[in-house]
Amino acid sequence: MILELEEVFSGASDSVGFDYVFDPGEITPAGSPAEHSSVRASGTVRANAGVVTLRGTAAFTLSGPCDRCAAPVTREYEVPLEHILSQSPEDEESDLIGAPGGKLDLDALVREDVILFIPMSFLCSEDCKGLCPVCGKDLNEGPCSCGKPVDPRLEALRALLGGDGED
Ligand SMILES: [Zn+2]
Ligand SMILES: [Zn+2]
Repeated sequence: MILELEEVFSGASDSVGFDYVFDPGEITPAGSPAEHSSVRASGTVRANAGVVTLRGTAAFTLSGPCDRCAAPVTREYEVPLEHILSQSPEDEESDLIGAPGGKLDLDALVREDVILFIPMSFLCSEDCKGLCPVCGKDLNEGPCSCGKPVDPRLEALRALLGGDGED
């Protein structure tokens, strides 16, 4: 939505609130099978001593398979929104968000914040152990009987370094 902020910039009004739901389009990393809900953005734009600040949150959920163990996961996210707004067109060298003519394209701003917030990997938990590459057992449920997997690249590195002193 386009937020009308002329009155906040002119001083006729102290604040303008927003609370709405929109479809942000594609927000997950390319190739990710995770599906997102619509985004609910809520907050307030307030003028304080001539500085116009937007504060709020963008809430949404992602659901899909864990990148490591493939278990189905649904996660809720709350992205903090905090920006200083300017009526002049966006200045590349400042952090100010442009609201030319007092009109702010809120969907575009929130979408950008949401994309920056989404982690590159979608995991059931940060320390998900994933699946054994040999037998496919979910290692979150306990160790499998394949023994300690040996990464050939690590072995090569160890040989190059002349061993680690254990032998
Ligand atoms: Zn997992
Ligand atoms: Zn195994």
